[in-house]
Amino acid sequence: MASNQQRQETSMRHVLSFDVEEHFQVSAFWSDARRRQWDRLESRVEQNTLRLAELLAHAETKATFFVLGWVAERYPGLVKALAKQGHEIASHGYGHELVTNLTDGEFRDDVRRSKHILEDLTGGMVFGYRAPSFSITDRTPTALAILAEEGYLYDSSLYARFQRSEKVERESGVHEIATTAGNIFEVALPTANLWGIQLPIAGGGYFRFFPYSVSRMFLKHLEKAGTQLVMYLHPWEIDPYQPRMDGPLVSKFRHYFNLRRTEQRLECLLRDFSFAPVVEIVQPIREMVQARAPYGTAACAVSG
Ligand SMILES: [Zn+2]
Repeated sequence: MASNQQRQETSMRHVLSFDVEEHFQVSAFWSDARRRQWDRLESRVEQNTLRLAELLAHAETKATFFVLGWVAERYPGLVKALAKQGHEIASHGYGHELVTNLTDGEFRDDVRRSKHILEDLTGGMVFGYRAPSFSITDRTPTALAILAEEGYLYDSSLYARFQRSEKVERESGVHEIATTAGNIFEVALPTANLWGIQLPIAGGGYFRFFPYSVSRMFLKHLEKAGTQLVMYLHPWEIDPYQPRMDGPLVSKFRHYFNLRRTEQRLECLLRDFSFAPVVEIVQPIREMVQARAPYGTAACAVSG
């Protein structure tokens, strides 16, 4: 496998990210009854995340891990190990409730709580946030201001999947967004324009759905156009043996489709593209991070 160093010489570097949560916490299977059972369901997140870390180590690649506060409380050693390996630790909130379902006060508590837990564990600062199921939308107009007030430097939740292309042009890539609490960076998920509609190609179920050659074609096309990719996956997506949950047929299809193929596809992705954490390769964020934490922090891989 080509080393990260070799790949960097030939291609641009992109963001690789993982949303660290249990297989039973996904929004597609959400119910209040299941939420009450979380502590009794079979946990798979630690072993799956460690496997991801192994794959990354083999490819000499670092990534951003958006970790759920609920997971960090139960697996503090996992978060510490990821930070020690040089990965960036960012927040996926605490309890995986959709932002659209929370009041402003509840959202603030959720993002504050997870940030404290992660910073206590790593001894470093947490700069980034990603909403469960990309649920920062037009329906959550105060969310970005709350993130800025709570000390987050960037958000990575905007995903213009299936929206009309002319509407999202200005919202793609890394850009700064003004809020009532000051500016915050948005590390938006990339989409590919297909006949005027933005096709999601950045990871998750879409990455499992399309054959790898198709994903690669879209991603290489975006790369050639100068787009910095932001890819995402979840630890449970490399786990074909996870227990099956009951739920709507569509949810079952989306969640369980092609789980057997994800690990191999991730290896192909790591071979064909060069990746690094947000704080390391998104230039304006890197500069802000270095200004705030000039000596580096345990929570992020800011080097060089
Ligand atoms: Zn999630």
